[in-house]
Amino acid sequence: MRRYFCPQCQSEVYFDNTACVSCKSSLGYSSSTDSFRALSTLVPLQHGSENICANHDLIGCNWIVEHTETSHFCSSCQHTLVIPDLSTTPNVERWARLERAKRMLFYGLLKFQLPLELDKNTLNGRLQFEFKSDLLSFVGQEAKTITGHKNGVITINIKEADDDVREQQRVQMGEPYRTLIGHLRHEIGHYYWDRLVANTERLDQFRAMFGDERIDYAQALQRHYQFGEPQGWEMRYVSAYASSHPWEDFAETWAHYFHIVDGLETAQSYQIKSADVSGGVYKSSYEEKDFSTLISAWVPLTIAMNAMNRSIGNSDFYPFVLSNAISEKLHFVHNFIHHFE
Ligand SMILES: [Zn+2]
Ligand SMILES: [Zn+2]
Ligand SMILES: [Zn+2]
Repeated sequence: MRRYFCPQCQSEVYFDNTACVSCKSSLGYSSSTDSFRALSTLVPLQHGSENICANHDLIGCNWIVEHTETSHFCSSCQHTLVIPDLSTTPNVERWARLERAKRMLFYGLLKFQLPLELDKNTLNGRLQFEFKSDLLSFVGQEAKTITGHKNGVITINIKEADDDVREQQRVQMGEPYRTLIGHLRHEIGHYYWDRLVANTERLDQFRAMFGDERIDYAQALQRHYQFGEPQGWEMRYVSAYASSHPWEDFAETWAHYFHIVDGLETAQSYQIKSADVSGGVYKSSYEEKDFSTLISAWVPLTIAMNAMNRSIGNSDFYPFVLSNAISEKLHFVHNFIHHFE
């Protein structure tokens, strides 16, 4: 994520800010120019008008609806199909947290210029999100909402937005890392696998790298939850969960690629650099075509950042180790993102 500044007084503003803490100007983020604008400078134009997202007042969405858009919602909120029952205040807060993470996700998608639908005219294969809670049926049974992706729709159980619940899940599952942006970057990996790998000439290459995805998915997950990960998984998979099925391996690797590129953009923006970086000089991590440049900048940075976190008693910033086999998979995702046409 880049650094941003208030257009009125040049003070630093964070990506989520709806106003400048210094001069108090109301601000909005323009995804087309990747910069903040004062809401007082938005102008109604002849064809469509600029405005702040219709979700601004309710959940603090700070993205500007560009005059080229036909919706009252910003380019991230437009893709939300189902929102939770807003009659309770905690649900409004959960939804706000989820949309905040989703704007971070969209920031990456827009920077990589990844397609958000298969066909712009018919909106065929459009990326959509459902934010739902567990439901009580009329006979009093609880129907669980499973976080996942199916046919272009990403479903997130809104309880993941509660820090205590998510942390409990993380400990229970033995995971070193569990975040909302991690969930979203993982699920979007499934979306792009369906859209851009399945039924394409890339499928053979995918199978050579990640394995044959035709093995029974339900059985593979059941085996994973029953028997755990295989011995020595750390050398081949970026996470234990990635070892459950080639689809999950791809989605986990995809999420890491997003973490790496966005983390490098942040580091560059704040001029944070590990003294151990020998190569690894990049202009823009989102545009860098040479994968080895990215990885040689990332690894020493994570070691330094882990040490920073440990020095104040926090858990590791990046609790992962990238083996050569994992790097090769990341390289596959890198090539895929930069040459998806
Ligand atoms: Zn200001
Ligand atoms: Zn919005
Ligand atoms: Zn998955």
